[in-house]
Amino acid sequence: MQTPEHGEGVVPGLAITRARKESFLSAVTTDPAGTAAGPDPAALADLAALGEAEAGPGSDGDDASGPEARAGGAGLGSRAPLRLMAIHAHPDDESSKGAATMARYAREGVDVLVVTMTGGERGDILNRAMERPEIRANLAAVRRAEMARAREILGVRQRFLGFTDSGLPEGDPLPPLPEGCFAVQPLETAAWPLVHAVRQFRPQVILGYDENGGYPHPDHVKCHQVTIEAFEAAGDPDRYSGCGEPWQPAKLYYFATFHRDRLMALHEEMLRRGLESPYGDRLDEWIDEPDKPGIEITTRVPCGDFFGIRDQALIAHATQIDPEGSWFACPREVQRAAWPTEDFHLARSVVNTERPEEDLFAGVRHDVRWTSGVSRW
Ligand SMILES: [Zn+2]
Repeated sequence: MQTPEHGEGVVPGLAITRARKESFLSAVTTDPAGTAAGPDPAALADLAALGEAEAGPGSDGDDASGPEARAGGAGLGSRAPLRLMAIHAHPDDESSKGAATMARYAREGVDVLVVTMTGGERGDILNRAMERPEIRANLAAVRRAEMARAREILGVRQRFLGFTDSGLPEGDPLPPLPEGCFAVQPLETAAWPLVHAVRQFRPQVILGYDENGGYPHPDHVKCHQVTIEAFEAAGDPDRYSGCGEPWQPAKLYYFATFHRDRLMALHEEMLRRGLESPYGDRLDEWIDEPDKPGIEITTRVPCGDFFGIRDQALIAHATQIDPEGSWFACPREVQRAAWPTEDFHLARSVVNTERPEEDLFAGVRHDVRWTSGVSRW
């Protein structure tokens, strides 16, 4: 692979940036029509009320009311030259996929934003210690509070985009999905708040789910679809008009979290240390599936020093994560020794980079530095 050219060889996404710098700096969206097709207005009014509390570390008290808030983009203006957006289906997903990576980049000065498509209202309580009537009766609010805590621990900003959890259908035959939930929304309706958030936040790098959603929850599959839609449409001035000034992200990655090579390395290291491994059955299943190759790893981000922060963020999602459960079956020192990275698949890119990568901003950093010298974005 070639390394990126600079000067005349302008990175396409960033060329748009330079050309539109002034309009970006004063970007205002006024199209309420889009919100009519967007997520539940009542849920988004709630979001607006939560505006400042949800703005995350370093909040400057952005006004999160009005059409921009309903579109999911309020207060998302740039706070750093490098910006990373992670797109997730439910609260807790951000802490189980790429969390140590986000913690690392946030502490290096990257502006990191998690967008959460749904409120997780239909999630089960997966930690028996939290199975109490008052928690079940207020699950949406409890999960919102858990998300706020996890966000603080990770050191990132976070926004709910206001859709309703579709739940994980069970039974044979499977029941229909609930009316109005995220997974049944038409693609443009589902993607509208995300396109708006991308155009407001202007990330160079986006993290999202692969075609299978990472696992077959309807919200995760839908999340993949809106992620692709936003990556492809956000930079196109002819699409999603009235949804903010166009912005083309440079790179899109898929999370590659629970892959075989990593589990095998953890498994072998635990056995080597005389520990009981929880991964034997899963690895046996994988051996029986030679025709299902895993996702290609293009990028391994060293982040072992942040596994402790990742674990704290997971524990903050107390209704979803049992501190005695399988998430913590492998000691952190084993993880650091055997697999001290989080891994990703570079799915789309408008910049040239050399693979394998160790940095999500490879191919982007130099251009941003170069550009920062002549502008203030
Ligand atoms: Zn999820």
